[in-house]
Amino acid sequence: MNVFFDVDDTLICGLDGTLRPHVADIFARIRADGHAIYVWSSAGRRWQDLERHGLHAFVSECYLKPDGDYERTLRAQNVAEPHFVVDDHRDIVDVFGGCQVRPYLEPDVGDTEMIRAYDALREFAQRRS
Ligand SMILES: [Mg+2]
Repeated sequence: MNVFFDVDDTLICGLDGTLRPHVADIFARIRADGHAIYVWSSAGRRWQDLERHGLHAFVSECYLKPDGDYERTLRAQNVAEPHFVVDDHRDIVDVFGGCQVRPYLEPDVGDTEMIRAYDALREFAQRRS
């Protein structure tokens, strides 16, 4: 499956750019489970942020995330088909399916939203197979 992650307030804290807890571990697990990881952001392609946090090797491609009219825009841009999206915004999760996470607005070592998203992905993948 193609698993898509938002960046700001999902993978990293929009306030100071720190990485959300468990992201690297969950990325490794998703790849070990045989899925592909894509990262998209309405701020553009975020390779620099992924490299800064040592995540780039897990990620197949980075995209500019459309602001709306998602399916038509993605077809026009030749973006891989999202099967499961993880995002802090509800609307895009409603369009593609996936897991809405609580916005990561300030550093919090106790945050476990990435684990919850991974559990939701596993459940989704099991139902799909
Ligand atoms: Mg976001």
